[in-house]
Amino acid sequence: MSHSPLASVPSIGAVTCPVSEAQAHGLLDAELSGAEAGAVRRHLEGCARCRAHVTRLSHLLVALRRQRLRQERAPASLHARVRALARAE
Ligand SMILES: [Zn+2]
Repeated sequence: MSHSPLASVPSIGAVTCPVSEAQAHGLLDAELSGAEAGAVRRHLEGCARCRAHVTRLSHLLVALRRQRLRQERAPASLHARVRALARAE
């Protein structure tokens, strides 16, 4: 949590949105209750700014998950062992 006084000041020209960063994450991870998810979705329908933010966030989360999956499938230590074996033959 930031205690900077700027954190409570909305961006210039923007209305203060009721959708928080945590709610955007919760929606993408399906961690919100039905009612909360519905409220967030309704807001996104009418707010291009939040919609763009959630879209960016979802792309980021997908990229992170892909990266994590790749790392789980082929850990660096395994690559090193395979390379070492290949050299030994
Ligand atoms: Zn909004």
